[in-house]
Amino acid sequence: VKTRGKNGYQFFDPAFYGAMRQRKQRERELQAAIAGNQFVMHYQVRVSAATQRVASLEALVRWNHPTAGMLYPDEFIPLAEETGMIVPLGELVVDTVCAQIAAWTRDGCAAVPVSINVSSRQFNERDMHALFLQSLERHGIPADRVEIELTESTMIRDPVRTSEHLQAMHALGIRLLVDDFGTGYSSLSMLQQLDFDLLKVDKSFTRRLGGDGQGEVLFTAIITMAHALGMKVVAEGVERPEQAALLAQLQCDELQGYYIASPLDAVGVQGEIRRRQAA
Ligand code: C2E
Ligand code: CA
Ligand code: CA
Ligand code: CA
Repeated sequence: VKTRGKNGYQFFDPAFYGAMRQRKQRERELQAAIAGNQFVMHYQVRVSAATQRVASLEALVRWNHPTAGMLYPDEFIPLAEETGMIVPLGELVVDTVCAQIAAWTRDGCAAVPVSINVSSRQFNERDMHALFLQSLERHGIPADRVEIELTESTMIRDPVRTSEHLQAMHALGIRLLVDDFGTGYSSLSMLQQLDFDLLKVDKSFTRRLGGDGQGEVLFTAIITMAHALGMKVVAEGVERPEQAALLAQLQCDELQGYYIASPLDAVGVQGEIRRRQAA
């Protein structure tokens, strides 16, 4: 009979074992967080570069952890993706956002669309089209109130299946955005075939504006191409007034970033919208 004495773990590297235990602990916490919905959504406005009016809100998930406080996606989305928990978490996000849109509508708030981030694992393991359709119906929301953001890598992983789902959602009236554009390998033909509505250019391009001119060259090329293909362009990570001014000059359609507004809770973002629509 094997007994587990006080030296029972002598073959394990204690540091590795500690890290494993911590990870297992986080995994259990994340499971409980999904079961008990400890998540809150924050919303960041995306505005027209020409008028500064709000075009849309990006929904960004936060975990209101019982002891560690508010955790940001970088601290739990990777674990959720590795373990597959991103699937139930993603369902929770879609449903929470749709419920919030319905609540805003009841309160007489402006009808601003909300964009939802969807990662590749969610696309591979869940019928996205059905998930969105069910949530929209459950909360009585028109499809044009939601948009989805997906990265170039999501489209590349399983192009045929992904494009079928995307086309079905697009046909419903859900707008499609490419997130972090410029960091992946999407081809022009894929962008056109999938008929994306908007390219969200990665922060790293915005950061290059106003230096040696290379940022301006890249934005000009992307904007010209996107407009020729019938897509709009939004720059993310706009942190300074000079960047906003340059982007407007370059005919970039929309702006998002701390200079415009930080992500805010559901109440705060409605104040931000009212302030802008009144200005
Ligand atoms: P993302 O989709 O690229 O989202 C933009 C991130 O940039 C957000 O970080 C936002 O708070 C931050 N940001 C906004 N303005 C600025 C700025 O001016 N400068 C800089 N440096 N950053 C800015 P956050 O909320 O921490 O989200 C990180 C990532 O987590 C997101 O990147 C997205 O990939 C993922 N994520 C967030 N919410 C969800 C979700 O509901 N589902 C899934 N699958 N992923 C999510
Ligand atoms: Ca995004
Ligand atoms: Ca992004
Ligand atoms: Ca289009």
